Amino acid sequence: MSERCAFVYSSRFDDVSYGDDHPFKVARYRLAYELIRELELLAPPGVTVVESPLADEAELLRFHRADYLEKLREFSLDPDPRADFRYGLGDIENPVFPGLYAWARTVCGGTLEATRRLATGEVRSAFNMAGGWHHAHAAKASGFSYLNDAVVAIQWLVQQGLRVAYVDIDAHHGDGVQEAFYDSSQVLTISLHETGDDFFPHTGYSRELGHGPGYGYAVNIPFLRHADDRLFRRAFDAVVMPLLKSYRPDVLVSQFGVDSLRTDPLTRLEMTTAVIEDTARTLRSLGLPWLALGGGGYDKVNVACSWALVWGVMSGRAVPDTLPPHFRARIAALGAERKKLRDDEHFARPDDFSRAQEALESNLAFLSAHLSPIHRLALR
Ligand SMILES: [Zn+2]
Repeated sequence: MSERCAFVYSSRFDDVSYGDDHPFKVARYRLAYELIRELELLAPPGVTVVESPLADEAELLRFHRADYLEKLREFSLDPDPRADFRYGLGDIENPVFPGLYAWARTVCGGTLEATRRLATGEVRSAFNMAGGWHHAHAAKASGFSYLNDAVVAIQWLVQQGLRVAYVDIDAHHGDGVQEAFYDSSQVLTISLHETGDDFFPHTGYSRELGHGPGYGYAVNIPFLRHADDRLFRRAFDAVVMPLLKSYRPDVLVSQFGVDSLRTDPLTRLEMTTAVIEDTARTLRSLGLPWLALGGGGYDKVNVACSWALVWGVMSGRAVPDTLPPHFRARIAALGAERKKLRDDEHFARPDDFSRAQEALESNLAFLSAHLSPIHRLALR
């Protein structure tokens, strides 16, 4: 069944470059958009394609510090490369290049526009695949992220008096979002990710539970490397869904980073497109106003396929498993051979699985012990 939903897009999403050697490629946005369009998932009824506007600086100041925004603006107007490591700007991960600030504001503006349309009831769900920059801090770029669109949007919702649940399935911990709401029970943040033991951003342990009135409202489920779909589903069923049902937020915000997929070159989790599609379906079943954002993902063909699946679920449309011929030709030109949209089923090696399972069960037991009393639940 289709319902009113907004797909945010701008042809400006892919008009910058982080550099030839940088793993993040903006080309994935156009690729995903073209796949989604060719699958006829943007056709009426119910679907609105929304142009992503430039976010106002006043809106960014809801979270970001003025001196940081000033640096970002100044540096991205300069044709020569600039750096100031106090602000995380200009290093290998977070390069500064002409047009960066306008680009980041366009991405953030898309998330805000989607949020406003949700809050007015104009749409029931909205997807900004170019959003989800969960590592950005108030005055520091980090992990390819400059403006934390999720935080800016959630702050706006909180100012409207709304309670928000944020669910982040990116392979990296959603540290910037957690940090922004660590002291608050008005925002429940849940992040599932690869363990920070030897992996950026080195946070996201189950013991990080929030602070003061926010204690019990920051939830982290780290996975050992090689965790596969089975463990993801186990964690989602055991902790994420019971918490969301008990918390009953006014708005759901989800970050759909897809670098947890086994084909991703930067991470070591072994999940498949099935968990992305399942997660979207499960979240949709909650029937809440729902903002979905993109996030990491460095195998751009699989990113496009995954976000097409997410959008298929959000817009209530069936997504066939065969890739359209135009898209196949386009990815063939990029050197990728692929016929099917969904990954084949995949299971981690038994010894890897056992290790990851044992670690997960220990984290789930810890979370159950600490969260069950606060949320009056019996998590298992
Ligand atoms: Zn990531």
